[in-house]
Amino acid sequence: MDHIRRPTLPMLGKKHTSDKASKDRSQSKDKHAKDGFRAHAQLKPVKLNLSMESPPALFIDPPQQSTGALISGRLQVTPNAGDVVMNSIVMYLECTTTTKRPVQDRCRECMVNVTDLYEWKFFSKPKTFDATNGMLELPFSHLIPGHIPATTHGQIGSIDYWLHVRAMTNDGIETEFRRELVISRALRSVNDKNSVRIFPPTNLSLNVTLPSVVYPIGDFPILCRMTGITTKRDETQTRWRLRKLTWRIEEHETMISAACALHAHKVGGEGKGVQHQYDREVGSEDLKQGWKTNFDDGQVEGEFTAAIDSAKHPQCDVEAPNGLKISHNLILELVIAEEWAPNKKPQQSTPTGAARVLRTQFNLNVSDRSGMGISWDDEMPPMYEDVPASPPQYPASPPHYQDDHTSVMNYEGDDIHEDLEGLSLAN
Ligand SMILES: [Zn+2]
Repeated sequence: MDHIRRPTLPMLGKKHTSDKASKDRSQSKDKHAKDGFRAHAQLKPVKLNLSMESPPALFIDPPQQSTGALISGRLQVTPNAGDVVMNSIVMYLECTTTTKRPVQDRCRECMVNVTDLYEWKFFSKPKTFDATNGMLELPFSHLIPGHIPATTHGQIGSIDYWLHVRAMTNDGIETEFRRELVISRALRSVNDKNSVRIFPPTNLSLNVTLPSVVYPIGDFPILCRMTGITTKRDETQTRWRLRKLTWRIEEHETMISAACALHAHKVGGEGKGVQHQYDREVGSEDLKQGWKTNFDDGQVEGEFTAAIDSAKHPQCDVEAPNGLKISHNLILELVIAEEWAPNKKPQQSTPTGAARVLRTQFNLNVSDRSGMGISWDDEMPPMYEDVPASPPQYPASPPHYQDDHTSVMNYEGDDIHEDLEGLSLAN
């Protein structure tokens, strides 16, 4: 990422004390190094800095609904060596897309794509910066549209935003300055989502309640209730006993690596790319207890706590026009064992030897927390035509009773019956 150098020289504005002649060797070396930088920095006609006035950029709501984020600040220009005439000072809001899977290995053009989203031209004709006036501040502001993707650092793709200043003197000397602008997105939490999943050919039906939004840090509850676990006949009954419940959170990332003009032939022409996918687990747990079984009612229920493992640097959901998409799934696996009992003595159960694994998955909306942040337009009283008729909706949850979200498999793991003899039925 050669051309995205972070600013180094302008930041080394520290004053050093030159009167400490008795410094030891290492410090002396350090002092000389600073002298060198300082001399170099002084070659630049101006020193640039950015002072942000707006809070960290936070989009509230999904891309289709977000009103964006207002940024504002002041570009600080200080003449370094006498009066200076600037022909232009322009600042760009840049979006940088980076892929770790470039079409051509080590080709920076294939790896990094920079797009200007906005530019500020601070003046239209040459402007003199008077050294005696010192630092001059140029205010700027912009409403960043809420449909663009938030800052994302995935496993194969990244999106970053930069404020990039280019200041050109009338004698053609350019000074540059860059500051990263982190953009986050927070989805508002609305009502919990209820889903019902069925597992044909069994009579089992699983009712799951999940929060509408979960966060990369912190836990969340999963409420489960499974019905239809008991099948009663005239004299006897068979029932499914829940032996193990596993929850697992998967992060799915896809990225389209576009080729640079030089390497476009490798992917069949310009404007084409190669899609890459990276899936990983960002949290899981096996549970062997914690639920209540009621064979009379034919149901088992429990509430569990799940969490994304923040040590894995989970990313929020994102879908960018350049092909970077990150989404999350919660997978539930229930291992159930069948047992038989006479109706008159339902506690005298005998395992039949049958066992199944029920598997189903749910989409999880993962977003940053809004914290104390409020949308910039929420600070103003709503205008009447802006009042929505109903609360904001999130992307539609999977329809209920959708069979392709579930599967029933024969259990092929460890023998889950061997300890059944000693099992207490007083759940
Ligand atoms: Zn290339």
